[in-house]
Amino acid sequence: MLNKLVNLLFPETCPVCQNPCLNHETTPICTDCWQSVRQYKGPLCQKCGAPLVSEISIICGECLKQEPAFVYARSFGLYDHTLRKGINLLKYHGKKRLSRPLSALLIKSGLPEADTVVPVPLHHNRLRYREFNQSALISKYIAVEMKSNLILDCLVKVRDTLPQVGLRYKARVKNIKGAFKVRNKDAIKDRKIILVDDVVTTGATIRECSGTLKEAGAGEIYVISLAHGMSD
Ligand SMILES: [Zn+2]
Ligand SMILES: [Zn+2]
Repeated sequence: MLNKLVNLLFPETCPVCQNPCLNHETTPICTDCWQSVRQYKGPLCQKCGAPLVSEISIICGECLKQEPAFVYARSFGLYDHTLRKGINLLKYHGKKRLSRPLSALLIKSGLPEADTVVPVPLHHNRLRYREFNQSALISKYIAVEMKSNLILDCLVKVRDTLPQVGLRYKARVKNIKGAFKVRNKDAIKDRKIILVDDVVTTGATIRECSGTLKEAGAGEIYVISLAHGMSD
């Protein structure tokens, strides 16, 4: 309530359009900019959700080469414009409140059936630095919506890895290999899992997480993420 009032009296400047933001829910992003966020409706790999250049192919090259352990992965939108800004404000500038409207985008776009929600974990070094895991915040809203189990301490990142940004696919796969572990196998045994990530780029991370969960006895795995990034 107090926040709301402060927000009305001293509106922040929307970082996208530079107008004052009067929308408490999505601060600092204004209503107009938030409403411009669109779901990606173009051609995509039916398996990993990667946007495809051709309408003809159904499965991307990487998925053909090696089938991922998940049933499918889907991202809400493309990692650009306002969606990118919103994710970065949450992730790097501590704007935790954006986790709610960002989760609402995923919920509105439809969720796979599952009984368990698991976020892609951060290594504890990074968690200490950043203070929260953005994927865990989103997972919380997803689990509430689905009335399913939220498991935060089962899949853990045991090895701190280089940032995946700037690495090519093969280097990313190598970088992330063996970085995750399942701590409590009983918690995920035969469970239908939604694995939540914020941004998927090459899919190396979600492939590794899904493989680790599957090896530990998980049932079907579905991956959802806010945005699909372009790999360079
Ligand atoms: Zn704006
Ligand atoms: Zn694919």
